[in-house]
Amino acid sequence: MQNTATPTHCPYCALQCGMNLTPAADGTVEVTERADFPVNRGALCGKGRTAPALLSSRVRLTSPLVRSRDGELTPATWEEALDRIAGNLARTREEHGADALGVFGGGGLTNEKAYTLGKFARVALGTSQIDYNGRFCMSSAAAAGTKAFGLDRGLPFPLEDIPKTGCVILVGSNPAETMPPSLRYFAELRENGGTLIVVDPRRTRTAEQADLHLAPRPGTDLALALGMLHLVVAQGRVDERYVEERTAGWEDARAAAMAHWPEYVERITGVSVPELREAVRLFCAPEAAMVLTARGPEQQAKGTDTVGAWINLCLATGRAGRPLSGYGCLTGQGNGQGGREHGQKADQLPGYRKLTDPAARRHVAEVWGVDPDSLPGPGRSAYELLDALGTDIRSLLVMGSNPVVSAPRAAHIEGRLRSLDFLAVCDVVLSETAALADVVLPVTQWAEETGTTTSLEGRVLLRRRAISPPDGVRGDLEVLHELAGRLGVEKGFPTDPEEVFEELRRASAGGPADYSGIDYRRLAEENGVFWPCPAPDGTNEATGTDGTTRADEITGIDETTGGEESTGADETTGIDEATRVDETTGAEETTGADEATRAEEATGRDGAARAEETTGTDETTRADETTRAEETTGTDGPARARGHRHPGTPRLFLDRFATDDGRARFVPVSHRPSAEEPDDEYPVLLTTGRVVAQYQSGAQTRRVEELNAAAPGPFVELHPRLAARLGAAEGDPVAVVSRRGRAVAPARITTGIRPDTVFMPFHWPGEGRANTLTNPALDPTSRMPEFKVCAVRVEAVTDV
Ligand code: SF4
Repeated sequence: MQNTATPTHCPYCALQCGMNLTPAADGTVEVTERADFPVNRGALCGKGRTAPALLSSRVRLTSPLVRSRDGELTPATWEEALDRIAGNLARTREEHGADALGVFGGGGLTNEKAYTLGKFARVALGTSQIDYNGRFCMSSAAAAGTKAFGLDRGLPFPLEDIPKTGCVILVGSNPAETMPPSLRYFAELRENGGTLIVVDPRRTRTAEQADLHLAPRPGTDLALALGMLHLVVAQGRVDERYVEERTAGWEDARAAAMAHWPEYVERITGVSVPELREAVRLFCAPEAAMVLTARGPEQQAKGTDTVGAWINLCLATGRAGRPLSGYGCLTGQGNGQGGREHGQKADQLPGYRKLTDPAARRHVAEVWGVDPDSLPGPGRSAYELLDALGTDIRSLLVMGSNPVVSAPRAAHIEGRLRSLDFLAVCDVVLSETAALADVVLPVTQWAEETGTTTSLEGRVLLRRRAISPPDGVRGDLEVLHELAGRLGVEKGFPTDPEEVFEELRRASAGGPADYSGIDYRRLAEENGVFWPCPAPDGTNEATGTDGTTRADEITGIDETTGGEESTGADETTGIDEATRVDETTGAEETTGADEATRAEEATGRDGAARAEETTGTDETTRADETTRAEETTGTDGPARARGHRHPGTPRLFLDRFATDDGRARFVPVSHRPSAEEPDDEYPVLLTTGRVVAQYQSGAQTRRVEELNAAAPGPFVELHPRLAARLGAAEGDPVAVVSRRGRAVAPARITTGIRPDTVFMPFHWPGEGRANTLTNPALDPTSRMPEFKVCAVRVEAVTDV
């Protein structure tokens, strides 16, 4: 065991805060500030600060469990447990075919695990039935971003751009609860004279900090965005030249928006026309502005269109693919971004490639050493997969997920899990899903293993092993290696994460999410690298570089020269080395490049002309611009031709979008009701979300004493008028009933929520399980369920 501080990252949310871990003599692990990581500059929320508590928790699993003949989970050896899993998977395949096997992954798995799990499903099991809980998280934003820009990366710009823009609209996002250290970016934005608009049915702690809070009825933010776009057109605020030069499809989108009169939008959303006008004024006044979405607009049965409407607003006003402007998605889970890039999603192969693309299948099959025709096609999306358990899907392997709590219509899904012929779960604790399993495998935790994650910025990060795991647990990679071997696939499932990453690099090479220029050493040296980051010429997958070759052999870079560094700095951001130093130290940027950009913006001149002028007057800038274009398209360019390592791509789309013609696409969208609207029987709307002291299904955080004390259970947030109608006082139990079930939790009465809406956090199982109520109506494109809105009735509980 090491006794010095190990720099690493938090195991929880997509901010992936940096932290140092130091083992103490008593076996505990201390978290200390890691100020060198620029994203959080040492700040952590309570979840990150207390994360080590679970490492030595007495509730942690340290032995495999198998279900005995009398139905109890009892300790077993690893051999017995692995044999049991492999035997049951093989039997199911033999009796029902490979697609009777299901695999359900998680957005918290490292890139290496997500990659290997996808490969395991398609190569070792031969099944198409794999998806993951990230489908529940941000897949509508991914679908909308891909439609509009040709490429989805949560944020196409770094967080550090937020304080420098002029206005941010945060739609359905509550970072004060979900990722508190990120609040400083919005505070700095306002300190710099920028404005913050928050769109949320609740007056959240984030909304309290906004210059303008818009509180639409849940499920109507699509109409809100259309109403704003209508006003943008009516007020002559469309950036006509940008629309002409950098987009396609405007006329249809314009026509759709013009059908949404502000008064009509007011009736749909409850947001007044003056509020709409003020939002448009604040958004359009500065030269640069951003729209950032999170689960609010995304977790709807029209989530892709809702996010598309906000993207349309950005495009019409020239606010995408320009410095300090754009649309971005604030991803939720720790590796929600990387988790969807490397093959555990039902329709994707590593490198964010489409499973239906013949060239992608050939490429990945070659890396995997299999026949492309042997790769299955796309499988069911997450909810559809879970809904098919016990019928089409007979056996399931779950890794890093707890759908008994986190899936919509959770009581039904719990029933589907119980109906399986066989269920195996890998987890660190006996989660509610693991408790239903036939075999439970205890696996290592984040501090006990090395691996990479990709943050909400698209920044690939290295999580380092800081301590040894306890006896009795094994890594997920080892589990997949052992199972693949037992299923007759002896090779191709290494247990060393760096070896897996080297293969992942080759599998991703040339794809949209190209990691081929990234290696562990770079990640350690550079505090992360933004994708896409292609390998230098002659060193990527095309060369057939051995997957076990180490980073220094591949890049050919001499550690001691440092000569590559200065080139990399310029290419990365189009700004000079001094700036990077400033970024590292957290000092305010004052570089010429950024200053020049902002000065030009202040003149109000056209962006395209500005870019040409800037490029034409500065040789350094021109070189940087060239590189940036190459970065965006992923094409070969001079930097790689020279054999220099690619610097990574913090900012996407500055010169062209990732579509065939380089233009962004407007997508015409119109308001439509939610899948369930209130009626006489269910007259109230339910929306769900998170609290600061808990994370996702709570499997980990509910078992941390300090967090559990801070947030011990669910609650029903409701307006005083609704509470008065029920006769409910603060803390009284109230029942929330939907067409799918009933949940009971104490009332929390506040004027910070609309009178027609109640809110429940979703972290808990049992009687107060919010997802008992939620609606699995799926978005037709992303297949994301409508967690954020369903019709309910609220009742006083009298039988207590
Ligand atoms: Fe940072 Fe998120 Fe971890 Fe909190 S949970 S410390 S915000 S990464």
